[in-house]
Amino acid sequence: MSKALLGKIAVVTGGASGIGLASAESMIAEGAQVVIVDRDQAALQALQQKHGDAVVTLEADLLDPESCRALIPRILEKTKVIDIFHANAGLYVGGDLVDADNDAIDRMLNLNINVVIKNVRDVLPHMIERGVGDILVTSSLAGHYPTPWEPVYASSKWAMNCFVQTVRRQVCPHGIRVGSVSPGPVITTLLSDWPAEKLQEAKDKGSLMEASDVAEALLFMLTRPRHVTIRDVVILPSQFDL
Ligand code: NAD
Repeated sequence: MSKALLGKIAVVTGGASGIGLASAESMIAEGAQVVIVDRDQAALQALQQKHGDAVVTLEADLLDPESCRALIPRILEKTKVIDIFHANAGLYVGGDLVDADNDAIDRMLNLNINVVIKNVRDVLPHMIERGVGDILVTSSLAGHYPTPWEPVYASSKWAMNCFVQTVRRQVCPHGIRVGSVSPGPVITTLLSDWPAEKLQEAKDKGSLMEASDVAEALLFMLTRPRHVTIRDVVILPSQFDL
């Protein structure tokens, strides 16, 4: 059977772990070549060995302004084409607002909002010129419901949902689809920053998902015929009582 993304070139930021890794590997399984962008050099090396020519690894700390600025030019220099851009890299700050420190707030808002907006801005001219492209953003359930244990993080994802919905209206006439996936809690390293009692509660209830659950939703969005856009998917564990 033919693979749905054969010949496509995809980019996943934060693709060396968790949801980004599951997204990258599901696209590879469907025939795409995937540029995995991450700051984790060791993980990138392991992925290069595992997947060979199916991946291009690109080490970049996207919080470094020059690395962020150079990202899309560096990728296009290597691949010439970007069909799919998955803006996924993100950080987490949870807990009471009064305990959040300045550096953590700044880094998280910068990566979760500014970097995504700049990366998407930089890839759009290429997609507009080609008249085709897919942009996906990893948002969060916290971007739809006021999750009281994480006001800083939730704010960043509400901003992302607004960004997705507005930029979509700008670029839809150019043949570009823009969608977001908003997962509830997924077992990744990011959850190690959850307040311990919240994590334990979720584990006890069995209300956590796997990264592959999210990747399946993303793949479904990407593989619809081009005249259809699955705009924004919220995916959460059935047992999650919010
Ligand atoms: P993760 O920590 O497993 O993966 C994040 C990846 O991003 C890592 O490989 C890390 O090295 C990379 N990264 C972090 N900072 C970077 C930087 N400055 N430059 C380049 N790469 C960087 O976390 P995850 O849970 O897979 O998170 C991915 C996305 O999913 C985030 O946007 C997060 O907000 C979102 N999300 C996660 C959950 C969850 O429960 N895990 C739920 C909803 C949304």
